[in-house]
Amino acid sequence: MAKIIAFSNQKGGVGKTTTCVNLAAYIAEAGKRVLVVDFDAQGNASSSLGIFDKRTKNSIYDVICGGADIKSCIVDTEIKGLKILPASNDLAGAELELGQIVIGRERVLEEKLEAVKDNFDYIFIDCGPSLGLLTVNALTASNGIVVPIVCEYFALEGLAQMMNTVKLVRKFLNPSVNIAGVALTMYDGRSKLTREVRAEIEKLFGDKVFETTIPKNVRLAESPSFGKPVVLYDKKCAGALAYEALAKEFIQKI
Ligand code: ATP
Ligand code: MG
Repeated sequence: MAKIIAFSNQKGGVGKTTTCVNLAAYIAEAGKRVLVVDFDAQGNASSSLGIFDKRTKNSIYDVICGGADIKSCIVDTEIKGLKILPASNDLAGAELELGQIVIGRERVLEEKLEAVKDNFDYIFIDCGPSLGLLTVNALTASNGIVVPIVCEYFALEGLAQMMNTVKLVRKFLNPSVNIAGVALTMYDGRSKLTREVRAEIEKLFGDKVFETTIPKNVRLAESPSFGKPVVLYDKKCAGALAYEALAKEFIQKI
C-alpha cells in the first residue's frame, strides 16, 4: 500500500513543486511506483511533468468535484514508473465547492485515493501555498508531510501557523500524520544567515531535517519549461545530483 506524502508549506515559492516532482522522478528511477497528485490550481507539477494544457479534462478537479473515475485520470510521464494526476485551473474553485459539503468535506481526497493506493509505493501530493480546505484534504489523506524551506529571514514566519494546522488535523482528522521530513531548498551554505536559520530549523524539527540540502541551481528552474524533471534535462548538474541524493535519503528514512 502506498505511503502518501504531502509537500506543503503555506509560504509560496519555497520549492514544494520542484522538490515533489524531482524527488518523485528519482524515486521512480530507483524502481518504485510513484504517483504525483497535482493539488494546486497553478498546475506547476503538471507542467513540470509535460502536461501544459491546464483545461485538460480528467483532472484532479474532475475527480474531487465532478465524480470522475480517478483511475481514468492518471496518466504516464516520460519516466517509467512515474505517473501524474494533473490539475486544471478549475481547481481554484474546488475550495468553495468542497466547502458546501456538509459532512466529510476534509476527507474527499483521502477517499478518492483509496482506489489507487495499492497500485503505488508512494503517492506525492503537491500542495499550493495556502492552508485552506484543499491542503487540509491533502494532510488528512497523508501519512507524512515534507516541508520544503528556504533558509532566509522570513522562513520561520508562518511555520507556526502551519504547525498549528497540522496539530488540528492530527486532533480531529488524521492522528497518524506527522512531519516526515524538512528539505532545505535553494540552500547557500556560504551565507551566515542561511546557517543561522538552519540551526533554528534544526532546533524545531531535529533529525526530521534532511541532511541533503538542495543548492540554488538554474538548471532546476529551467527544466519545467521543457516539461521535464531535471534527471531528463541535465542529470549531471548540481541540482540533479542533490535531488538524486535526497531521493536516496528519503527512501531510507520514509
Ligand atoms: P508555490 O508556492 O507557488 O507552489 P513552490 O513552493 O512550489 O511555489 P517552486 O515552484 O518549486 O516553489 O519554486 C519556485 C521557483 O523557484 C520556481 O521558479 C522554481 O523553478 C525555482 N526553484 C525552485 N528550487 C530551485 C533551486 N534549488 N534553484 C533554483 N531555482 C529553484
Ligand atoms: Mg508549487
